[in-house]
Amino acid sequence: MTAKPHPDDRAPAPIRAEALEALLTEKGLVNADGLNGLINRFVNDVGPMNGATVVARAWTDPEYRERLLEDGTAAVGEFGFAGPQGEHIVVVPNDAKNHNVVVCTLCSCYPWPLLGLPPDWYKDPAYRARVVREPRVVLSEMGLNLAEDVEVTVWDSSAENRYFILPERPSGTEDMSEEELAELVTREAMVGVAVVGSPT
Ligand code: FE
Repeated sequence: MTAKPHPDDRAPAPIRAEALEALLTEKGLVNADGLNGLINRFVNDVGPMNGATVVARAWTDPEYRERLLEDGTAAVGEFGFAGPQGEHIVVVPNDAKNHNVVVCTLCSCYPWPLLGLPPDWYKDPAYRARVVREPRVVLSEMGLNLAEDVEVTVWDSSAENRYFILPERPSGTEDMSEEELAELVTREAMVGVAVVGSPT
């Protein structure tokens, strides 16, 4: 009888992914070109700029903001942002008194069509476990120190709801165009581990 390997003893994720891909290709279940195309699309074409476009629109168009908070999937679909891991997008707004941050405690659910593929820190078991228990500590380790009177809420993404943070529009941006505003918005701010800073 063989013991089941402890999770830590398993081969690293990239090796397991490669083995899985080879097996699925061999069985004819996936096509290598199609898979590479999908990966390239999410690495190169889709990235946080999609999310930043949505944020800049919400900052400049109150009616769009309303639609976005009401039905995230439909509102981002107005830009054509849709596809795998883009179903059931729920948008949560940050403001001066309420700070929201996203995690997937189970795995790495993430709104691909808006942010591309998740960064390594998002998939890190330490982030996933700790941000729920001690969000302020984790956020401060990541460089975000929140005032005592700011309420912090952690949202656990899943296949049912993929959360996306609408950061607060920083001061000093009143005269900026939508395109200029989009350039200020970072991936980290749209996951809620950072805020969008005022332009210098
Ligand atoms: Fe997940």
